[in-house]
Formats: sequence, structure tokens, C-alpha cells
Amino acid sequence: MTWTRAVARCVRAVSIALALPSLSMAPRATVSSLYVPRSMKQAYSRGTRSPDGRPGPRYWQNRARYTITLTASPPNRKVTGTEQIVYVNASPDTLRRLAMRVIVNIHKAGAYRATNAGPDYITSGVHIDAFTVNGQPATWNAENGYTVQGVTLPAPLMPHDSVRLGVDWHYDVSKESNREGMLDSTTFFLAYAYPRVSVYDDVNGWDLTPFDDRLEFYSDFNDYDVTVKVPANFVVWGTGTLRNAGEVLQPEILKRFQASLTSAQTIRVATIEDMRAKRVTAQQPVNAWHFTSTNVPDVTFAVSDHYVWDAGSVIVADGRPPVSVQAAYNDTASDYRHMVRFASHALDWLSHEWPGVPYPYEKTTVVEGPAGMEYPMMANDESYPDTVFSRFVAEHEIAHTYFPFWMGIDETRYPFMDEGMTTSTEYLLGVADLGKAKADSFFRAFRVANWIGDPAAAADEPIITPNSTGDNGYGKPALGYLALKALLGDAVYRKALHEYMELWHGKHPQPWDYFATFNRVTGENLDWFWRSWFFEPNYIDIAITGVAGSGSGTQVTLANVGGMPAPVDLIVQYDDGTSETLHQTPAIWRTDLRHASVSIPARRRVQSVQLEHGIWMDADPTNDRWPSQRPGV
Ligand SMILES: [Zn+2]
Repeated sequence: MTWTRAVARCVRAVSIALALPSLSMAPRATVSSLYVPRSMKQAYSRGTRSPDGRPGPRYWQNRARYTITLTASPPNRKVTGTEQIVYVNASPDTLRRLAMRVIVNIHKAGAYRATNAGPDYITSGVHIDAFTVNGQPATWNAENGYTVQGVTLPAPLMPHDSVRLGVDWHYDVSKESNREGMLDSTTFFLAYAYPRVSVYDDVNGWDLTPFDDRLEFYSDFNDYDVTVKVPANFVVWGTGTLRNAGEVLQPEILKRFQASLTSAQTIRVATIEDMRAKRVTAQQPVNAWHFTSTNVPDVTFAVSDHYVWDAGSVIVADGRPPVSVQAAYNDTASDYRHMVRFASHALDWLSHEWPGVPYPYEKTTVVEGPAGMEYPMMANDESYPDTVFSRFVAEHEIAHTYFPFWMGIDETRYPFMDEGMTTSTEYLLGVADLGKAKADSFFRAFRVANWIGDPAAAADEPIITPNSTGDNGYGKPALGYLALKALLGDAVYRKALHEYMELWHGKHPQPWDYFATFNRVTGENLDWFWRSWFFEPNYIDIAITGVAGSGSGTQVTLANVGGMPAPVDLIVQYDDGTSETLHQTPAIWRTDLRHASVSIPARRRVQSVQLEHGIWMDADPTNDRWPSQRPGV
């Protein structure tokens, strides 16, 4: 997401595990003790999903094939489009109406939106010029004309049948751009540029959530064949493979572009001098840039007559061609000169470390723009004076490739399933890039401090709450996923995460599919953890309630005041001047969510104990020390 616009924006570690009672009951692979919505229970009983977290034997998913032509001629703001959609109804339901998404209507006066809109953001929206169903003229009888529109079909679309839709449209790109629009007078970022069929799924039926510029997207997996027509001297970057580089590029530029596809070094495909001298693109009135992509949730394009173009490549898996890594930017954006290297590093790290799944697409392109926004194979990221921050933003947006894109997440309803997961990956990448101390302090300041410092009820709204973003989308769930990783250990966490990704990529997982998959793979009923982190109005506050010595050692008793089971370190000072850190995972709360005790062997006398929370910042530091230093206590 527009993540920069998101809400307001070692010592020796000794783990003393409590003697755990061995789990006498057989591990349950369901999430039956959690709140499960009726819609999910219906999916279980219909067999489209399984309570053990797997897609059910009757799982289905609709898909489409889009053939699109977009025409733009900046500085004229008008974009025209024509498309053929073949939409396949794999559901067992007869569809009499289709919900169509016309997202650019967010710019229309009167559109429902979560943010203010200045005069330069407002346009007249998308105008549907022609509509056909199976080749016959039909009425685009949308009743509200905004971002989600119901269209009645002349004849019902039967189960396992398909329908062919033809749409012609035009719109003006907005002068003020956010996720899409005009980047400057001759650079357009064309996202959401085509009308598409909304998701119809087995749990919630039609997704009718309006696009409000806050909640993001939910998309089916489609195949795209897109031609973008622009005047000579405009370059087009976009989702998918460029099919006709030889037709749209001049020979020298083509040579550089082709070299970049296997080059580990950044190649300046088109410099500002090349662009100014008009020696980049084929010199004919209009060039038609042809891109194809398969099984992706969306396509996005950028066009410019002066952005410069860098490219290189990176190997993400043995036996696969290198992934093309490209950057398009104003020549003045000095941080962007490193962008191909930053993005290549992100692809390499994500593929081999966390999530440790080879980057699933053939390319990625980072385009300079104001959004801090991810798209399949594309990002629209601001230029920053600090290259550490530029890299950080690029890494976050590229990490979104997995969640939501590859995983098909309904991020409109459950932002924590994509932003939260991506924010946890962002932290792990930060540790790799900057070292733990720097990454911790940045994460605390940027992702945690605002939330934990806010005592209002809204701050503690359960993460699972539908359509809840801000801290519930980013910092809180990221801390939850990282606490889970600490609880399970890296190997088990990775195994469960990979099983979830393997089962659900290219599909539409719901939160309960994720929870149940982890329960099944770990062989452990983690409902206590899910409930405390995701389902209850909790926060992080761990207190020392007592320290008692005996012959056999010292017992430190802890209370989980806030309710979230987070990792914590006990910094123990002994009276001989030594100290040690006793690292505790959330396992200490497994049997009793409110009380835990940590044993310190009776080797030395304990002088003081201090809690250290790392990134899991604590709401009340005054109860973190023994002996207490609170005045009057
Ligand atoms: Zn994000």
C-alpha cells in the first residue's frame, strides 16, 4: 500500500523453558475454538474449504482472459481503452449480474472515499462508450456509476460456462496522482486503467466493497494481453513480458535492453541524452507496446517521454531464466541510479531467505512516483535523498509480490494478511541489511510506537476485524507473525508458512485457512495464540509481579497485563556484578495466558531483573523492573 501514508505516520541468551505438560489430547488441525464466521462454516459444509486449512475438494475460483488496448498521448490527459474479457464462471452458481470494478471512478465527484480530494484529484471519471455481451450490444446499466457497478447480463451465465464482454471506455488521468494518474505533464502511471470483473468467491460471493483509496484490492488470477499505444519517443514500462521490443526500440537501445536480460550489472538502457536525442524508440507516429502475462491479479503501466531507463537481472532459482529488473525515473532522482541493484537484492533475498520462495514472476519494474505502492511486477515509489530509505521502500513493495499477489489475498477485508505479512518480511530484510540493532530501532519507531503509545480503544481493535487497516494492517500483525516465528522456531515456522503458500498460491485464502494450516503443520493447537493476537482487543504489556528466592533458585513471576503473548527478555543482574539475558518466547504463556514464571538456577543471588521487549514494545514500562523503581512503591 501507500505505505508511507499508513497511519500517522547480544548477550548470551538462555532459554529456560517451563516444564510443559505434554499435550495429552491429539493435536487438532481445525480452528474450532476460534470465532469462525458463518460464511466460512458454509464453505466447510459445501466442501469448498476444509477445516484443516486446505482447499476443499469442491474448491472453485473464477478467472478471466483480458485482451486490452490502451491509448495515451501525453500531455493530452485522455486515455482510451478497448477490451475483450472472457470471464469463466467456475462456480456452481448461475450469475445473472456481474459486479464490475471501475476503480478510476475514485476520482469522480461524489465517489465514496476515505481521504480528502482536492480539485486536481477530481475528474469526470470513466466513461463507458460501448458494451457488448457475447458480441451483441448491451446496456451498461450501472446504477451508481462509481467504483463498483452491477451490470445485468442479457442471459444468465450458467455454472462452468463463460461470457465474452467487450468494453470501450475513456477517462482523463488526474492531475494530482496518488496510486495512479499524472506523474508530470508527459509521464502517466496507468494503474486500474481498465474495467474488470470483481471477484466472486465461495465465501463471500461478489466482492462489492467500494474502492475508497484506503482499503486495497482483491483480484482473481487472469491472463492479460495488453497493447499500449503511445506516440514515438514515449517508453512504456509495465506488468508482463514485452513481446515486441524489436518493433518499438531502435537497434542500439534494443541491444542494451536484450543485454540487460542476462546482465547482473545495471545497464543504462536509455539515458537522458538518448531520450532527448530521440534515439530510443522507433520513429513512427505511434508505437504499440505489447505485453503479456499469465495468472496474475492485475496489470499496470507507466509511460514517459523523459524518464530514463535502467535494467539488469537476477537469478532467483536454478534452472529458471534470470528475472528482469528495471527502473524508470527522472534523471534528477539520484537514489534511483541504485534502484536496479536494490530491487535485485530484494528479489534475491526474498527468494532465498524469507519467505524463501523463488520470486514467481519474470520481471519487476520500479517507477518513480509518489505512491509507495505495489502492483504485480511493478512498484510506484517516491525518490528519497536517503538511499537506505529508498531501498527500504522498494523492498517492502517488492515483498508484496508474495502477499497479496501470488497468494490472492482479499486484502480489502483482511489487510493484515498482506500488509502485516509484508511488514514482518520488511523487518527481517531490515535485519539482514542494517543489522539487528538498527532494524529494531527503526521498526519500533516506524511501525510500533504510535500504536503502543495510543491508549484509546480503537488502538486495540482486534486485528481480525474486517476492513481494518492502519496499525491493524501493518505493525500489530507483523509483531504477531514475528512472535509466532519466535514461538515455533525458524524451521517449523518456515515449514508451516511454505505449506500455506504451497496450498494457497494462485487461490484465495481466508484467515481461517492460514490459522488451520499452521495448527495442522505444527501438530499443535495454536488457537490460544491466534485468539490472543488476532481475535481479542489486546495489546502488549508484560509486568514483573514478583521475584522470590529459595534454595533451588529464584522464581520471577510475570503477568500478561495486555494480553498479547509476546517474546520478552529478562535482564538479570547478580550481586557478583555479572548479568545474563534470559530470552523467553511466547511459549511461557501457552498454559496460562495471564501468568507465567521463569526459573533462575540458584548459582548466584539476583540483585535486579529488568524486562527488555525488543520490537514488541510494552505499553507500561513502569512495571518492567524488580525491585520496582516506581515512586512510593
Ligand atoms: Zn505495503
